Amino acid sequence: MEKSIIDFFYLICIVLFIIGLKRLSSPDTAKKGNIIAGIGMGLAILVALFQPLEGGANNYLWIVGGLILGGVIGYIAAIRVKMTAMPEMVSLFNGLGGACSMLIATVEFYNLEPGTAMMSTEVLTIIFALFVGSIAFTGSIVAWGKLDGFLRDSLVLPAPQILNLVLLLTVIGLSAYIMYLPEINYTLVWILLIVSMVYGVTFVTPIGGGDMPVVISLLNSFTGIAAAGAGLIYGNQVMIVGGIIVGAAGTILTVLMCNAMNRSLFNVVIGGFGAAGQSSGSDREQVAKEISLSDTAIQLKYSNKVMIVPGYGLAVAQAQHTCHDLEKALEAEGVDVRYAIHPVAGRMPGHMNVLLAEADVPYPKLLELEEANEQMPSTDMVLVIGANDVVNPAAKEDQGSPIYGMPILDVELAKTVIVLKRSMRPGYAGIENPLFFGDKTKMLFGDAKDSLSKLKAEVANA
Ligand code: NDP
Repeated sequence: MEKSIIDFFYLICIVLFIIGLKRLSSPDTAKKGNIIAGIGMGLAILVALFQPLEGGANNYLWIVGGLILGGVIGYIAAIRVKMTAMPEMVSLFNGLGGACSMLIATVEFYNLEPGTAMMSTEVLTIIFALFVGSIAFTGSIVAWGKLDGFLRDSLVLPAPQILNLVLLLTVIGLSAYIMYLPEINYTLVWILLIVSMVYGVTFVTPIGGGDMPVVISLLNSFTGIAAAGAGLIYGNQVMIVGGIIVGAAGTILTVLMCNAMNRSLFNVVIGGFGAAGQSSGSDREQVAKEISLSDTAIQLKYSNKVMIVPGYGLAVAQAQHTCHDLEKALEAEGVDVRYAIHPVAGRMPGHMNVLLAEADVPYPKLLELEEANEQMPSTDMVLVIGANDVVNPAAKEDQGSPIYGMPILDVELAKTVIVLKRSMRPGYAGIENPLFFGDKTKMLFGDAKDSLSKLKAEVANA
């Protein structure tokens, strides 16, 4: 196919990516946006198949084999994955994107024309794609393990900051030496690859607890940047633009997540903050007060304004539809119901928005952190459903707490707080929550879905 025709089709793909991304910004249009961007990606793959290769024909057997294998694995994974395991899958897929760029860069070292100047932008680009792709790959695998729970935050590396600095300097030194040598040295390339992959592991391992949302968005931006680097190697516009879009989106998300956690990126990366169990806690024997379903239902029904705080437990219980049903039952009784959305609630950025959009909760009912906090004093009852860290006052009061400094939802400013969870177990950060022992707080123990459906029935019948 003519290069100009290929470029024309690539331009269409890029336009589809941008329209798709624009539509992802609202839950109403997000589904279509995803399909449009997917069509763009499908078209880009198709067009790439017709791109003539320099010095050889496309090996369609390998390409089609790879497409079928990857397509089948991706399809089965997407169909089978539970909604609660979605953050882990996103992390894993993000890592695979990084692995692609890493492998492309490694292969391209072998494709260098004999006599290529090592001190060139071409070699620098390959090294860049290899390094950033490697961090995105192994870093995302560690993030996946942490989200899944099989890697614990208590896994501590010796002097992580020094270790990371030494590894980073090794990568820079090795890269400079590879470029300085007159000819390619494949042994050094493989050492660079291994050190870069190890750096990905040591970079993410010390970061944990409340800082995970920042790391996840940062790794996301690394994958985009690595893909853009791989696109530069091939001079492939669609890869460059696609990579830049992902890289930019990931970077913006990283900034937003840093703001949400009230932390600087430097602090997150260097601080290795969040290792669980540093909270000073309390020596006093504290007792949480329980409340029954029927008392909760009566209090809900006689409230003027109710604020629902959803958290990860809502996703675990898959209670979003039941929650929306309760909201409708309360509104039928004249209660004003709103949702307070903390930016890091759940296990991936925007988790609660996606979950509630799936249940058709009207978007205007969702209040962002600041607006929700402004409305807390005029709220009669806060219903905390499967949330824990995002309502933990230790973030404001306990300087020894790993979440100290993170803005939280000030639910204790409301008249009453009822917390729906199954036990007194902690949330992701692994720390006790003094809110549960507060004067205004009562606990309604049980699975969120079960409790919500019973509450809905009580509200309707009471
Ligand atoms: P938490 O993880 O703090 O708490 C969730 C609570 O839900 C638990 O205490 C659990 O208590 C309860 N729960 C679990 N299953 C159920 C169920 N079936 N029914 C009722 N309750 C249930 O969640 P938050 O949303 O408050 O906070 C998110 C945390 O995750 C933050 O620390 C954040 O930094 C971190 N994080 C966020 C990411 C993001 O991008 N949003 C990414 C990675 C980490 P019990 O077991 O007693 O029921």
